[in-house]
Amino acid sequence: MGAYRPGTAIITGGASGIGRALAACLVAGGTYAVLADRDYPAAERAAADLSAGGPGRAVAAELDVTDAAAVHALVDSVAAQRGRLDLMANNAGVLFAGAFEETTDRHWDVAIAVNLRGVVEGARAAYDVMAAQRRGRERAGVILNTASLAGLIPGPTMAPYTTTKWAVVGFSQALRAEARRHGIQVNVLCPGYVDTKLIDEVFEPGPTYAVGRFRANIKALQPRLLTADEVAAAAVRGIERDRPVIPVGGFAQLSWRAQRFAPGVVRQSTRLQAAREARQARRVAHGDADVTG
Ligand code: NAD
Repeated sequence: MGAYRPGTAIITGGASGIGRALAACLVAGGTYAVLADRDYPAAERAAADLSAGGPGRAVAAELDVTDAAAVHALVDSVAAQRGRLDLMANNAGVLFAGAFEETTDRHWDVAIAVNLRGVVEGARAAYDVMAAQRRGRERAGVILNTASLAGLIPGPTMAPYTTTKWAVVGFSQALRAEARRHGIQVNVLCPGYVDTKLIDEVFEPGPTYAVGRFRANIKALQPRLLTADEVAAAAVRGIERDRPVIPVGGFAQLSWRAQRFAPGVVRQSTRLQAAREARQARRVAHGDADVTG
């Protein structure tokens, strides 16, 4: 398969980070990309920037992926206006970090609503449109779901996040098998740590979560953060090669291999990580200033 150039794409969470970078990559290849984000002003700014570079075009759409009716309405209206939908990238996500005992109903509800149901509804909406637009044996469309390395290995002290990301990996692989007969390709993107605003914006952290801890702790695991552009390029390559799971970055690839072939190593490493973060939480509880060591 040659370079992947979808005619029309919708990218949720397209205003920032990985979504924006994926849109940039596609617009540079001629795609009409809809940047669907709950942060509409940021989506508008990104769309203007990307369209200025061309040769494709980006437009902004205000969308909260937890509003299933709005997700379906957007997919239907884009498909109606453009005549088809080639790529649905279900990418919007929220980060959760902190001790399990500090998670609340809200953490679980929001994690499930955004990170899981948001992906599922995007896939459901696109599935119908793509199945109906299939001609002959051609590929009807691609559904790309953004999970995470935390969907391939256990992420301690981020239970709502790792739970929903594992669910997205499972959902994507099951859907992939079903979708084949409609000519729909399903891939799941699993990047390691990426330098985006997500890692500084932990959703409503609990009382013993130290601000900045997430970014600081990453260094011990993956000293160099991936760039969103690297992730976008890997996503496009993964779609071209139709990789069921697209782990991005050396750390993610190594960790996923270890999870499959040497799970004891991953268990040990996650135990150490959990112990380290429990120490940090104790220091916050005692009012220590340096909590990232
Ligand atoms: P980001 O914060 O830069 O972008 C996320 C975008 O999603 C934002 O524009 C935000 O407004 C939007 N968004 C959040 N909730 C939404 C909602 N309910 N409806 C619509 N839009 C919503 O973060 P990013 O790192 O680019 O994250 C993109 C995806 O990549 C997420 O699913 C994230 O979990 C995943 N991911 C990120 C990393 C990382 O280290 N940054 C690693 C692996 C996976």
